[in-house]
Amino acid sequence: AIKVEKLVKRFGANTVLSGIDLVVPRGQVTCLIGPSGSGKSTLLRCIAFLEEANEGLIEINGEPLGFTSGEYGERNRLPAAQIQKVRSHIGMVFQQFNLWPHMTALGNVAEALVTVRGMPRKAAEERAMAQLSNVGLSARAGHYPSELSGGQQQRVAIARALALDPDIMLFDEPTSSLDPELTGEVLNVMRELAQSGMTMLVVTHEIGFAASVGSKIVFLDHGEKIVEGRPDEVFGKPRHERIDQFLDTYL
Ligand code: ATP
Ligand code: MG
Repeated sequence: AIKVEKLVKRFGANTVLSGIDLVVPRGQVTCLIGPSGSGKSTLLRCIAFLEEANEGLIEINGEPLGFTSGEYGERNRLPAAQIQKVRSHIGMVFQQFNLWPHMTALGNVAEALVTVRGMPRKAAEERAMAQLSNVGLSARAGHYPSELSGGQQQRVAIARALALDPDIMLFDEPTSSLDPELTGEVLNVMRELAQSGMTMLVVTHEIGFAASVGSKIVFLDHGEKIVEGRPDEVFGKPRHERIDQFLDTYL
């Protein structure tokens, strides 16, 4: 589970997140939507400790982390080892697939198992193969990223994250750089992952996916949580005016 309380993030004088409260219960999918610049990626990056929040509390699987200034008292920077441990529970998939171009699909998935987890190469490749098969790519294991479609590359990126056995997955607009016909195959993999009980926080503009897979929708605007609720509450009528504007822009 993820719990975020009164999270504040500033870049210089620019307050990008102004006191966000968010809970993603274990085994549930929360979809994060909002206009460009509203702070969605920053929120994900703070949760993954790729970015350090200025204030607030982040709790991962019941472990309170990142007490900072503000209501929770003095800044208490986490030791690097502890951040590393938290990160190991979290898998992240980005808009850009970030695959290593000089490694095959199999190599991309196996690499961190060898270098980070210290697994013997052969065992790592077996595990990588199983993950590739899960995302429907066993036949592409020996291909380099340049030989794969965008949708296939993104599925390799998902397999790579899953190979490290995370219990939380964060997705930041994983389909927004894909052609519409390739978007579906990635969303299907994510839908299956959700059905398998993975705890997921997904930034997406795919409203159909958010409405059908999300247990909860959170709408951010200018660093504030404006609306939160079940898909039928958020997208059904009567709708919050800002949701209406958002849907007009993105649909
Ligand atoms: P998009 O839908 O375009 O991806 P977003 O909701 O993910 O937008 P963020 O990327 O979180 O928005 O950005 C929120 C705000 O924070 C923006 O005003 C952005 O310019 C600013 N910002 C993000 N990263 C940095 C940074 N490293 N340094 C300074 N400002 C940043
Ligand atoms: Mg973003």
